[in-house]
Amino acid sequence: MPEASIILQPKKARPFYARHPWVFAGAVARVEGEPADGGEVDLLSHTGNFIARGFFNSKSKIRVRLFSWEQGISLDREFFKTRLQNAMRLRQDLGLLDAQGACRLVASEGDFLSGLTVDRYGQWLVAQFTSLGMGQRKDLIAGLLMELAQPKGILLRTEKGIGKLEGLEFPDEWVGSAPTGATVPILEHGCEIQVSMSEGQKTGYYLDQRDNRLAASKFAAGKRVLDVFCYGGGFTLHCLKQGASQCLGIDQSASALQLAELNLKNNQLANATWVQGDAFDELDKLATAGEKFGMVILDPPRFSRGRDSVDEALGGYRRLHTLALRLLEPDGFLVSCCCSGSITMDMMVDLIAQVGSKEKREIRILEKRGPAPDHPVAVSCLESGYLKCLVSFVR
Ligand code: SAH
Repeated sequence: MPEASIILQPKKARPFYARHPWVFAGAVARVEGEPADGGEVDLLSHTGNFIARGFFNSKSKIRVRLFSWEQGISLDREFFKTRLQNAMRLRQDLGLLDAQGACRLVASEGDFLSGLTVDRYGQWLVAQFTSLGMGQRKDLIAGLLMELAQPKGILLRTEKGIGKLEGLEFPDEWVGSAPTGATVPILEHGCEIQVSMSEGQKTGYYLDQRDNRLAASKFAAGKRVLDVFCYGGGFTLHCLKQGASQCLGIDQSASALQLAELNLKNNQLANATWVQGDAFDELDKLATAGEKFGMVILDPPRFSRGRDSVDEALGGYRRLHTLALRLLEPDGFLVSCCCSGSITMDMMVDLIAQVGSKEKREIRILEKRGPAPDHPVAVSCLESGYLKCLVSFVR
């Protein structure tokens, strides 16, 4: 049962009746009782009506993360078991539980489990905890995942920066057995990809782009492809498989490019080269040298964390797109991805239109895409839908 109640300011309750899970400190009028950080609390309107139950955290800007809108329900083992079962049932229905494949089993807010992400790489799972309430229950969650998904092992970890944001810190920890090699193979639309769970970026791979890689590759036949921010070469592998004549991948991370080269060899593919360096500098150099490509893929990391840095982030995207257009031959394909939550699809389209007009190029949008469906977007929390991918045809 909850230890305390959090009372909202007047006129602040509407998003929470609509099931938004994040209660920011500014919406809170007062705290009744002495809740522990990570403890269960009830959220009440200023008139004392029950709205929802969640986990409290005095150290986070998100003072309460909400999980249940039913009064009297405990956020206990049974509760989380049901939530995890629901998340797994969706992946089953999506056909994503094949033994050699990979998928996001739990997508935090997208599965009504704010602060928990679980990725499955073949027989192994990586559970990433990004809220204190979830992090304090990591053993409970790991036990449930072992029971429900029966993996060989689970890597429990948090994310860089979460210590500061949430007061959550713990060293990476394996439950069950760790894989014997440094990487584990997964199959993505027929490409074998090596994933390093403990040393790779994020949980080891970018599963949200799975279907966008395939979608982009369908236009790559016969093209010279520039894969900017290539990481393990995901886009490149699919493009080569679809008949791209040649690919050039750029990333600043040497270990990412080692993985990309390994993936290339393992798929018996050739005709790709990798350049380690800053994408902006490398694009500049290629443009100055007069290089041309039939397809340019831009998949940068998140440039913007919050609303404050949107302008700065847009400046980065504008520069990238300007360089990309200079490198793109007439009748080329431009694949623009953006994982900054504060930049919307409409803002991306505007930006591409502006850059196109400045560069005197005619641009037509062929596909407006989002993340793969194992990254569902909760309509009650649109922040869960951060990834945009636009495929355009450029004359
Ligand atoms: N396209 C990849 C995922 C890209 S993630 C895929 O399909 O899997 C973003 C990548 O950008 C990371 O690999 C990171 O190392 C790289 N990166 C970040 N900043 C960079 C910069 N300034 N220049 C080049 N690469 C950068």
